[in-house]
Parts: sequence; structure tokens; C-alpha cells
Amino acid sequence: MIKVGPMKLYVRTFGCQMNVHDSNRIVEMMQGEGYQSTTDVKEADLVVINTCSIREKAHHKGISEIGRLCKRVKRNKPDCVMVVAGCVSEQEGARIFKLAPQVDLVVGPDQIAQLPRWVRDARQDGRIAMTGFDRGTRADFLSTADRATPRGVSEFLTVSKGCEERCTYCIVPSVRGPERFRHPDDIIEEAVLLTENGVQELVLLGQKVNAYHYDGLTFAGLLERLDQLPGLQRLRFTSPHPRHMSPSLIESFGRLRTLCESIHLPVQSGADGTLARMGRRYTAGDYREVIGGLRRACPEILISTDLIVGFPGETEAEFEQTIGLLEEVRFCGAFSFKFSPRPGTAAANLPDDVTEADKARRLEIVHNVIERVEREIRHDLVGKRFEVLVTGSGRNAGQLTGRARNNQIINFQPAKGATLNQAPGSLHQVEVTGVMPHSLEGIPVADEAQSG
Ligand code: SF4
Repeated sequence: MIKVGPMKLYVRTFGCQMNVHDSNRIVEMMQGEGYQSTTDVKEADLVVINTCSIREKAHHKGISEIGRLCKRVKRNKPDCVMVVAGCVSEQEGARIFKLAPQVDLVVGPDQIAQLPRWVRDARQDGRIAMTGFDRGTRADFLSTADRATPRGVSEFLTVSKGCEERCTYCIVPSVRGPERFRHPDDIIEEAVLLTENGVQELVLLGQKVNAYHYDGLTFAGLLERLDQLPGLQRLRFTSPHPRHMSPSLIESFGRLRTLCESIHLPVQSGADGTLARMGRRYTAGDYREVIGGLRRACPEILISTDLIVGFPGETEAEFEQTIGLLEEVRFCGAFSFKFSPRPGTAAANLPDDVTEADKARRLEIVHNVIERVEREIRHDLVGKRFEVLVTGSGRNAGQLTGRARNNQIINFQPAKGATLNQAPGSLHQVEVTGVMPHSLEGIPVADEAQSG
């Protein structure tokens, strides 16, 4: 059937910021091939499901969505090309054709850069499975070169990919491959392109982002170079590993103009025994030292984390040590999960000896502690003033919303008749007046700082 008008692309993304970044690049690449994005899958001529397999639940969610979408789309449009991308693709490869016979193309994370070609080949020759890791050459890093694409206020910028840390519970090394670091000139070039196109905030991406090094340039050195960029207002990064929080990186907080006063630093457990079985290669004491250093360098910094409860062998005493660390460090938020064995990981061979009931009870205790401390921290922010980078309209009519440098979401009502720029990307001074379940309320004050 002859297609009239532009081909339509539908992208469904699961999982982490790396996948969100990859999906953004997929849209850009396929727009270059003449596709137009659609949010209506029924319209699509090309469907990409970008999957995650970090936990069992995410893996199953992706597989069921693949099955559901394939049936729905192919029933009405047999010519539509169904693509499965992301970590489940790398893990399962051509087995996906058995799980979902209507899939046409399986593309691992490192094969996305060639997606336009694979889609053409799949349209012509039928099913293809492209997995495997690249060598991390300069051309192998997905980057945006597209000045035309309208940008948000904040954009992701990849600095490395893959990981060789081998935490015993983690599937990332086997689905994202070995560690490869991007040439700093390419990172700077993309940062310049993005900031010249209105991007105010860059979020540096890497599975173990602070392990970055290139020809003697360290991660702290890379931050220093990016901090010089005139158009850049804010710099953040994800996901760091406590073992790579060097003294020079720690002291960058509070010193660099653009480096924001917030960090998400996964701890996973507060017990040395559990950390050792997880293969994290630091102790709870090491972690506390890093936190101490960050708070000396930048007293107003807000810290969030990741936690796993019910890891094989986790005793009640070890769990209590985790709770002790939460009470002491006082995180402003956390992603916390029950341990689930991932195929091919070392921990999958350990006896999963913590009962489901104990895992659920421990997770609830962690949630309660985190929520209480988070509430207390946010109540302490009432009366304080923050620079808010507007990202859009707020919860109520006429309200603006945005993020403070400490990553708190703040909604505020611009002063009546205010002439100040209120567009996304504008900066406003806001005094916090109230605490909502997942955000803060405020009033604009002395709106000297305005840009955009
Ligand atoms: S540092 Fe550990 S948890 Fe993080 S991606 Fe690497 S192996 Fe996984």
C-alpha cells in the first residue's frame, strides 16, 4: 500500500534517564529520515519500544507491553515496523521473536546509532536482531547535532556508557557493556550546541558518571570546563558511584558557578556485610565520609539515594544499620526496592533467603523513614529563598513551576502585572511559603535575576 504523507513514529520508553536520552536521539535521527513523531500508536508506521531490565518487574512490564502493542498495531497496520530497543533487547536478542512473533527489529543500546539503516533493512528483508557492544569510538556516542529541534530547559548529555563495576545484583554491565568514555571535545561541542539553542541546564549521563576520565582529564576537570560555558546556568550529573567521589569532585560543590547543590548518590545499604555481598567496594564509613565532605564543601546541598532491602543474607541487625544510616545522613529522597535476582548476575546464585514478608516489611520501614525525613527537610526550607528555573505552568491557574538548584520543585504565582519574563528557562527568586506532598509553594521576591 502506497503511504501518503510523512511516516509516523511512536516511541514508548521504559526505565532510566539513559533510555530517555536514547529515545530523544531516536526521535531526532528518525526525523532526519522524514518521520514525524506521534503520540497515537494507531497512526504509527514505526513503533519503537525502548525497554529496561534493571529489575524483574521492569523486564516483565516491557515484555507485556511489546506483546500488547504488537497485536494492536499489526492487526490494523501489518506494514508498521515494530522495534524493540534497550536493555531487554541486549539481554534477549533474537529470543524476542519467540516472545513476540510480530516484532520486526531487535536493537541493543549500542546499535541505536544505526537505527535508520536497520529500519530500512527490516522493511526490505524482514526480521533483524542487532545486539552487541561498540568500541566506544567518537562516532559511537549518540549525540545531537540537530540545531533545529526545539529544546527543553534541561537536556541530558552523555559522557560515558557501560560499566565495569560488577555490583553483584546489577545487570547493567551485561546489557550496557564495558565502560567507554567520550572524548571531552565532543562533550563540550554538544554542550555548546545545546546552550546556544536555549538549554539552561545540562544533566551529564553515565552508568558510573564520576568514574569518567580521558587522557588525564578527570570528571572534576570536565565539570570545570563545562562550568566556563557562558550560556550554561546549571549542571547536574547521574549516576555517580560513592567509590569515585574524589576530593576534587567533592570540593567542586559549592565552588563551581553552575554545579547545583544537590546530588543523587546511591548507597544501597548501611551495613558493611551487605555492601560486601553486593560488591559495592566501599563501607558505610566510607560513604559517611563522602557525605561529610560534601556537606563541608556545600552546607546547603540536598542528597538523595538508592536502597535495596532484603539482599541475600541481610540480617535484622544489618537492616537496622541501614535504618541507622538513613536517620544519620537524612536523605531528601530515595528510590528503594526489594531485592530481585537478575539473570546472569552473581547475586542470582546467592540463596534468596530473606522472605517476601520480611522484604515487604523492611521496604515499608524504609519508605516511612525516608518520607518523614524528606518532610522535615522540606519544612526547614519554608522562609528560605531560592533561584527557580522555570520549566512550565504550575499546579494552579496562573502558577509557574520550576526547580531550585537543590532540585526541589517549587510552584509560585507571579506577582499581578509582573512584567518579568515568565517563559520556561526564565530565572526567578522565590521565597518558600508552604510544603505540598511532592513540591513546595512560594512567592516571587525581588525578581532581579531574570534571563531567557
Ligand atoms: S555501578 Fe554497579 S549498580 Fe551501577 S551500573 Fe555499575 S554495576 Fe550497576
